Amino acid sequence: MIDPYGRKIEYMRVSVTDRCDLRCRYCMPKGINRLPSADILTFEEIAEVCAAAASLGIKYIRLTGGEPLARLGIEKLAAMIKNIDGIERLTMTTNGVTLERKLPELIAAGLDGVNISLDTLDRDMYKSITGFDCLEAVLKSIDAACEMGIKVKINAVVLKETLGGVMDIVSLARDRNIDVRFIEMMPIGEGAAFESISCDRVMEIIKDSYPNIKSTETSDGRGPARYYHIDGFAGNIGFIDAVHNSFCKSCNRIRLTSTGFLKPCLCYGDGVDLRDKFRNGSSAEVKAAIEKAVAMKPEGHCFADKGSVSERRDMFRIGG
Ligand code: SAM
Ligand code: SF4
Repeated sequence: MIDPYGRKIEYMRVSVTDRCDLRCRYCMPKGINRLPSADILTFEEIAEVCAAAASLGIKYIRLTGGEPLARLGIEKLAAMIKNIDGIERLTMTTNGVTLERKLPELIAAGLDGVNISLDTLDRDMYKSITGFDCLEAVLKSIDAACEMGIKVKINAVVLKETLGGVMDIVSLARDRNIDVRFIEMMPIGEGAAFESISCDRVMEIIKDSYPNIKSTETSDGRGPARYYHIDGFAGNIGFIDAVHNSFCKSCNRIRLTSTGFLKPCLCYGDGVDLRDKFRNGSSAEVKAAIEKAVAMKPEGHCFADKGSVSERRDMFRIGG
């Protein structure tokens, strides 16, 4: 599918649940109401959307949430999606808390890579950001994923209080082929109340220790990160500067919420309700609705101007 600005749309992020075992301050508000189960797509429905999307040219699927591992039987969904004709790559974004024990089944189901969210290596700070004392479990999951040979990326959202720990996060890429990516806070949901620290500021900190850090002059071809390399490091350092340096020209993605709403852009509330199409319509209608969402894709986001952000869902309901 080609959108109105000539971009090839090949990647769909799929949120499988609005539930999560953590409460990151910038993502999940306190006292939220969980959506009724009947509103959440079943595995069969998610697979149906993925199959329709694959027939229209989607090649990469990323499972997200909420916390995707909080959805019981997620490995079954992974296998269903990986077996769809045209799906070349299946990955997951997870907080990593329960990943270690679920990895063998996920890899057997065909998972190709995992992005683990980790903003700090300081145990107390981790607890203060996420609400839970789970840093050890996440670190074990990272070790296990590396040992099992699956591609690992670390996503670290940059907060004022984590700036002092930037080099700890960088060190994760030293000895293992882990790509570490720093992400600017986006003004979506709870995140709107936080300062968005620029990736340039993070780069300055890294340059104090590694002045020869060099651009790899590539993204990984599938996402918005700009990658850099430090001599002697096994992995790369990436920057996702969503707010201070728009990456929209190369945007290749659409997003499916756990209730079946297809979003053409993270920043705006617009999109198409697919759930109604497959609960009360035909597969032709599902395909037409996916094409409609792609045709609605705006040229770019407006994160630099908080007042223009029209998305009212919280990040845990979209999937990041
Ligand atoms: N629970 C999983 C996890 O944490 O990886 C998947 C869902 S979470 C919403 C996906 C990603 O969005 C995480 O890396 C999280 O840190 C990031 N995120 C959440 N709110 C954000 C915000 N306002 N700005 C930037 N990234 C955000
Ligand atoms: Fe849960 Fe991920 Fe949001 Fe943290 S960022 S509250 S782990 S969905």
